[in-house]
Amino acid sequence: MSHRTIAPMALSLLLAACATVSPVVEAPTDPTAPAAAAAPQTGMVSTADLRASEAGMAILEQGGSATDAAIAVMLALTVVEPQSSGIGGGGFFVHGTLTGEVTTLDGRETAPAGAGPDWFLDGNGEPIGFMDAVMSGLSVGVPGNLALAWQAHERYGKLEWAALFAPAIALARDGFVVSERFGDYLERAKNRAARTPAGQALFYNAAGEPLPVGTLVKNPELADTLERLAAEGPDWLYQGPAGAELAEHVAADTPREGAMVAGDLREYEAKWRNPVCGQYRVYRICGMGPPSSGATTVFAILKQLEQFDLAALGAESPTAWHLFAESQRLAYADREVYLGDSDFVDVPVAGLVNSSYLTERGRLISPDATIAEPQAGTPPGADLALADGPEWPESGTSHFAVVDDEGDAVSWTSTVEGPFGSGLVFGGFYLNNELTDFTMVPEVDGVPVANRVEGSKRPRSSMSPTLVYGPEGNLRIAIGAAGGATIPVQTAKALIGVLDWGLTAQEAIALPGLFSPGNTIVLEPDSSLLAMQDDLEALGHTVIVRGMPFKANAVEFVDGRWLGAADPRSEGAALGN
Ligand code: GLU
Repeated sequence: MSHRTIAPMALSLLLAACATVSPVVEAPTDPTAPAAAAAPQTGMVSTADLRASEAGMAILEQGGSATDAAIAVMLALTVVEPQSSGIGGGGFFVHGTLTGEVTTLDGRETAPAGAGPDWFLDGNGEPIGFMDAVMSGLSVGVPGNLALAWQAHERYGKLEWAALFAPAIALARDGFVVSERFGDYLERAKNRAARTPAGQALFYNAAGEPLPVGTLVKNPELADTLERLAAEGPDWLYQGPAGAELAEHVAADTPREGAMVAGDLREYEAKWRNPVCGQYRVYRICGMGPPSSGATTVFAILKQLEQFDLAALGAESPTAWHLFAESQRLAYADREVYLGDSDFVDVPVAGLVNSSYLTERGRLISPDATIAEPQAGTPPGADLALADGPEWPESGTSHFAVVDDEGDAVSWTSTVEGPFGSGLVFGGFYLNNELTDFTMVPEVDGVPVANRVEGSKRPRSSMSPTLVYGPEGNLRIAIGAAGGATIPVQTAKALIGVLDWGLTAQEAIALPGLFSPGNTIVLEPDSSLLAMQDDLEALGHTVIVRGMPFKANAVEFVDGRWLGAADPRSEGAALGN
């Protein structure tokens, strides 16, 4: 019996690329089962693009670890999904062993050392336009994914560093087919993707039209870049002349003092951080702490709901979705106030995931009414001298989950922030616009904002690479999502689907989306939730219907088998054998 999960949108891509599809092979069996009962297994890879999943599987088949395979995926996505992630951006890496040893590595981009709280302010002290900031060197942070990959490989790699680059180099050198989704991004985000001649030359014809879906695109400059990185390691970018060139390229597009310099790249390092873990019912949930708001927000949404019997209510119950919305509102109120880069601001992480605090906060949620105006709480250890404002989701990012033959898992969310990042291209790849994840206004009512710009600081993220361990202590699921501020909600929703409603990860990811970070609930268009709109409004909610950038990926362990899950809204694909 075989296992491969391919989202419907991926079918046309799959047909276009079917010459390269790996044979459909046996799903892995329980690594904890007696050897005699278990066929040898290689692992499972779920990513946003079949070709990236193939890259990961190829590495696993060579004996690579989950980390090796995940690095190959990150590199392959740089080539085939440049609108979302890559070596020009950053990410967060969560590693877990089969039996629960979890580590997290922060490869978030940093602001140049010369940046300060007025980075996004004009001469009058007013914030400049958001897109003006995005489409300039002001938005580009020092990329972190390569340093992250190197440090993760040092700790968990089995294959040679250079071997991990082979699939991505082949994709860049030999070409890859423009998929429907990528074609759509080329059209919709043309002003970013083609804002420089280098970007235009990559994916647009001489008349400025996007290359049509089905076109084989080659990116020889990126292939060269990847070959250098394979041979010389990330120092080629961070320590050498290439880094100085990158900084100059960004600085040339940065309309103010303090622009990126070579020293910013030389100083960059990915940081091992303490994982943020908590207990939800019988499960241990672990994820990425600051500068990501991911783990604290996912966990708060879940824990505040623990008092309710969600399993009995079920996925068809408007009350269940109302409770989910209320819990989000509370979690996002705390997130807005407390989350930022903990190297710069005091983030009360332990307090935010404190069981008594969240249980108490959950008591604010009623099945019959809405909270009038959710306020941040005061978690143990909190300093309330911070403030922040709301944020709306942007559409970039890719999550991938990998498990290897030893049951080690990687959950890694990688991003260039918005589609094609800042639109600046260097060495054949797009440079991120991650610094617009900072709050532009440095203070509110005289109170400094936790997520304000500071030199060498990392902007707050929503990315939520997550691992869940079951009651026996064994890995149950590795999951995460793309989609800006909706990421913790997508992750929490899928976990409720799996852990409370007994769905597979695939079914849980496919559940309709409801996003409620403030005083308005956003429902996913054309979804079954629209039938609940009247019920939700009767409870006091303001409800709007609007498309949101959902895209989640997971691997899970069910009945002795690793299964993959990829969002049906995407071209995601899970491969395993
Ligand atoms: N830059 C965002 C973050 O770190 C993710 C962007 C997206 O997923 O669209 O939270």
